[in-house]
Order: sequence, then C-alpha cells, then structure tokens
Amino acid sequence: SREPQSLLKAHHADAHVGKVYGIVSGKGGVGKSMVTSQLAVTMRRRGYQVGILDADITGPSIPKAFGIHDRAMGTENALIPSESKTGIQVMSINLLLENETDPVIWRGPVISGVVQQFWTDVLWNCDYLFVDMPPGTGDVSLSVFQSIPLDGIIIVASPQDLVGMVVEKAVKMAEMMNVPIVGLVENMSYVACPDCGKKIYLFGEGKTAQAAAAHNLPLLAEMPIDPVLASLTDAGSIEDFQGDWLKTVADHLAEK
Ligand code: ADP
Repeated sequence: SREPQSLLKAHHADAHVGKVYGIVSGKGGVGKSMVTSQLAVTMRRRGYQVGILDADITGPSIPKAFGIHDRAMGTENALIPSESKTGIQVMSINLLLENETDPVIWRGPVISGVVQQFWTDVLWNCDYLFVDMPPGTGDVSLSVFQSIPLDGIIIVASPQDLVGMVVEKAVKMAEMMNVPIVGLVENMSYVACPDCGKKIYLFGEGKTAQAAAAHNLPLLAEMPIDPVLASLTDAGSIEDFQGDWLKTVADHLAEK
C-alpha cells in the first residue's frame, strides 16, 4: 500500500528550492550527516546554490561541522538560514536553541512539527536542498517523508549494515513512500595505510557490491575512514577537506 502524498507541504512563498534530496540511514552513527555535508560541499564547489535542512533534531551535527555557532535570524513570517564560510545555507535546531549543548527532549510530534517548519517557514534559496534525515525508520522519519516533497533519497550504510536488515528497512520505507532511491553510499569501507596507501578493508572487501546488487541499488561511492576528515569536521572546517569521494553522486544529481 502507498501512503497518500496529499500531506506534502509547499515551501515558503518567497523561497526558491530546486531539487530536494534526503540522506537516510537505517541507524545512527554511520555517517549520514557526513555524507550530507560532503555532498553539499561538492555541489557548492560546482557553483550551485546549496542548502542543508538538518532534520536530525535529536542529534544535530551539521552546524558544528561547518563551524556555525551564531543563532539563526527570523523575520515576522520567515526563518533565515545561517550561511557557512563558502555560502552553504543551513537550518538546524542547534541554531535556534539558547545553548547549543542543550539536549532536545521533545516527543515525536513536536520534533516532526519543527522539521516541517524548516521546510515551510525557511527562506531557502537553493538549487539543491539536502535533508539530513532522522536516523532509522521510525515515526519521525515517516513524518519527514510525508511533509517534505523529496525528489530522491541517498542511503548511507556501513559495511556491516549492508549484510543485515538495516538497509533493507530503509529501502522498503522509501518504496512505501514512493520516493525514488538515487543509490547507496558505503561509509567507513576501508582505512588507507598512511605509509604505503594500502587499503585495509576492516569488514571484508567486495561484500558491499554484492549486497547492493541484491537490493537492486546502485553503489555510488565507497568512503574510507579518514582521520583528516574526522579532525576537520570536529574543528568545524569540513569545507577545507579536499577529498572528492562523492563525485559520482554529484554527477548523478547534476544530470537529473
Ligand atoms: P550519523 O549522521 O549517521 O549519525 P555522523 O555523520 O555524525 O553519523 O558520523 C558519526 C561520527 O563519525 C562523526 O564524528 C563523524 O565525524 C565521523 N565520521 C563519519 N564518517 C567518517 C569518515 N569517513 N572518516 C572519518 N570520520 C567519519
């Protein structure tokens, strides 16, 4: 059975939004926010106007990765996204909290309401809006699927998720919600030896391609665990990272 799409809301009347892509994962901690950020940086480098809607309300990590700490501004009827160093627009609950270390302990419906406002009330001006989705396939994810018209989703998984049921659940959710799946990004696939460059596949090599094929998913990229990326992200300088691991994904989006 398909969910009715009638719940989908329009964005703010004065906003301009081109394509909207959700970045999803079957569970937390696999690098969903990392892929969202990298994708935004890649598309921005290609000259597009880019926004990130941080719908991961209980674990918002986008502002910190981009070094954004100032509060978001509002007008009488709109929220103005903050801008990163390279001009990426960001809206996140952490830009609205009085203290960015305060935990968000709201229940599902309240969280869903905030995510919906990030879509309907923010003055986005972007060719590509990337939505860092809530982790997992629970009620908050469901309500994001129902309130934001997604042009597609990108699934992020760690090597272990691929062989389990976690990815399958994400795939089924997207299918039930009638949203096309652009493809799969595997994160933390391997570590490259800093001395000789040899790739060490901690969880075995080649399993991913197999699992992706079993799910009928194009495997778009494999991202290594990179200490440089981790420390730049911790320092709020993710835009300084020079890697271009999501090139294939960006090519894909630019063609559509
Ligand atoms: P999720 O959004 O799925 O919960 P995050 O994107 O926040 O996961 O990633 C979890 C942690 O792992 C973060 O501290 C992030 O900086 C780090 N991380 C993610 N991917 C990589 C990578 N490829 N290399 C190094 N560190 C990474």
